[in-house]
Amino acid sequence: MAKCAYCSTTIIFGGKSEGKLRFCNDQCRNKGVLLATSEQIPANVIQQKACEIHQGNCPKCGARGPIDVHVSYQVWSAVFLTSWKSRPHVCCRSCGIKSQLGDATFSLLLGWWGFPWGLIFTPIQVVRNMVGLARGVDPSKPSAQLEKIVRLTTASQLIQTN
Ligand SMILES: [Zn+2]
Ligand SMILES: [Zn+2]
Repeated sequence: MAKCAYCSTTIIFGGKSEGKLRFCNDQCRNKGVLLATSEQIPANVIQQKACEIHQGNCPKCGARGPIDVHVSYQVWSAVFLTSWKSRPHVCCRSCGIKSQLGDATFSLLLGWWGFPWGLIFTPIQVVRNMVGLARGVDPSKPSAQLEKIVRLTTASQLIQTN
């Protein structure tokens, strides 16, 4: 199965394409189109920035790192409409846990009320949050996903300054 080129979530249904890349939704696609530009930034520049963020303080709560990407998963439904998304957060583990618990609760309350996708996606998104909670990220070094987000952020800054 295809994975989103931006947030690395497995795409079960739908998704958006951009050239050869696949994304889970428009939001990820908008961020992901920078991937091509970002490939031109030297790897050591990215690694250094990723390390700085990894060892820095949490942008959400100010606590000490390690800071990394924690993805939380949300779904909400309104009768025939169901909307689901993955939200990558760059923060400390405890803020990551908070967003995953928050999104699991949100999905349990608001996910079910659409047919048929709400019934299908609510358990999927809740389980994804639980897996993220249980697994966490390797605290010893920046993850590939953090490097990717740093790469994209740097690319968008380059585009804005040019
Ligand atoms: Zn995505
Ligand atoms: Zn935090």
